Amino acid sequence: MPDNRPYAIYLRKSREDREIEKYEGVDTLDRHRKTLLKFAQEHNMQVGHIYEEVVSGETIAERNEMKKLIKDVENRMWKGILVMEVQRLARGETEDQGIVARVFKYSSTEIVTPGKSYNPNNEFDEEYFEFGLFMSRREYKTINGRLKRGRETSVNEGKFVGNIAPLGYERIKLKNSKGYSLKLNLEEADIVRKIFNLFAYENISINKIANKLDMMGIKPRKTLNWSSSTIKDVLNNPVYIGKIRWNARKQEIATKDGKRFKSRPRNQNPLIVDGLHDSIIDEKTWNIVQNKRKLNLPPVPHNKAVKNPLAGIIYCAKCGKPMQRRPYNKKNKPATIMCSNSKCDNISSKLFIVEDKIIQALKIWINNYKIDYEKLLGKNRPTVNITYKEQLKQLKTRLVKEKTKLNKIYDYFEDGTYNKQEFEERLSTQKFKIKEFKDKIKQLEIKLKKEENIDKERTLVFPKIQNALDIYDKLDNNEEKNKLLKSLIKKVTYLKIEKSIKKFSDPTCFEIHIYPKIPKSK
Ligand SMILES: [Zn+2]
Repeated sequence: MPDNRPYAIYLRKSREDREIEKYEGVDTLDRHRKTLLKFAQEHNMQVGHIYEEVVSGETIAERNEMKKLIKDVENRMWKGILVMEVQRLARGETEDQGIVARVFKYSSTEIVTPGKSYNPNNEFDEEYFEFGLFMSRREYKTINGRLKRGRETSVNEGKFVGNIAPLGYERIKLKNSKGYSLKLNLEEADIVRKIFNLFAYENISINKIANKLDMMGIKPRKTLNWSSSTIKDVLNNPVYIGKIRWNARKQEIATKDGKRFKSRPRNQNPLIVDGLHDSIIDEKTWNIVQNKRKLNLPPVPHNKAVKNPLAGIIYCAKCGKPMQRRPYNKKNKPATIMCSNSKCDNISSKLFIVEDKIIQALKIWINNYKIDYEKLLGKNRPTVNITYKEQLKQLKTRLVKEKTKLNKIYDYFEDGTYNKQEFEERLSTQKFKIKEFKDKIKQLEIKLKKEENIDKERTLVFPKIQNALDIYDKLDNNEEKNKLLKSLIKKVTYLKIEKSIKKFSDPTCFEIHIYPKIPKSK
């Protein structure tokens, strides 16, 4: 049966329209009405009603015509709604977009714009999909939240909520209630016992356990060989004493440099409850293993404690390789710093002497250059920003002009100067131009912001170094010292040509070049 329902038009001024009206004194709604009516006529669409929003509300609640429209669309009064742009219905970042998308989708009402029509029943209608994306994401979030709460309840009941059973078990569906538990896999359970016993009672290291299992011809589930991380996971998993652990690694979303990323850090306090399943290991063995593991764990979890305050900073002036700290074999003798390239003949020095020299040099450098630098700051820099600001102003004026031209195109279309093809061509050219201007403005604004930040940093650089040098000697931790130096220095190169063999030869007879971090502008 053909769908003979009429279309309706929805008219609303955007904020930009109001801006343009100020310059031109035209009535946007009137013009849009003409354009859409003409469009409908050309496409044999019967128009049954025009919703004309006179108030300037951003949300649906503030827009009375929109409320009426939603109701009518829900009642499937219209085959479709004609609108200048999809965004006239609801803005992309508001909740309203979800509401609008859903109403149109479930009532199978089309959205028609002069540029494109959107069919909500066609999932391959990419742009409609984009329009609806906001909704999907929101729904996903609620569903996901519900799922998570469900899982937590299951964990509290001792059920197993993972997808893959841990080594030693199989996942089984519970008979009298929802969810899953674990059943022993006898063969694998033997392997688990072996791993625990080797570690607890035979003092065999994790690496060697992996090798031993390989040599015994015991195969892991999926891989060819045992890895120490698999062994570690087994030894850490309380599932083997009949517990269920939840959120050992909770997903966290963080941002870095404005970009979102997901991470799964180890949770220090995961939820651990008694499970419904049988244990494989007794508590005594479990406790021995946990205590032994604690002793073996390095004090700083992820990276080794920094012993060299110059780590990552000092490089060999001869070959360019990083210089290394080498501890002295005898106790109470200071460590040396040497080139990491064994073929290089750069001569080593005592680490603390090099460290002292660097700090001294920085102190001298700061006193000599501070005054010059402050003069320089006042002189050169601001002109760059003034140029940028001027350019920005010009671009913005141009943008307004281009927007005005856009409106002229509509006028020419309405009064028949342009036919439809001409109209569309001019329209897309003009829109492209406007986009170019907007892009340029954005780029320039980013540049300006960057320059302003550099200015700020540059005025701070000397106080920052001064302050750092003041506190350096008071730090007793090499890691902190290293961090502090890294914040000030890009790198230091080191060169020593003559050996200080004689007892009274000068131990500071070496050359260092310091490259301080000073924010530069382009
Ligand atoms: Zn070298």
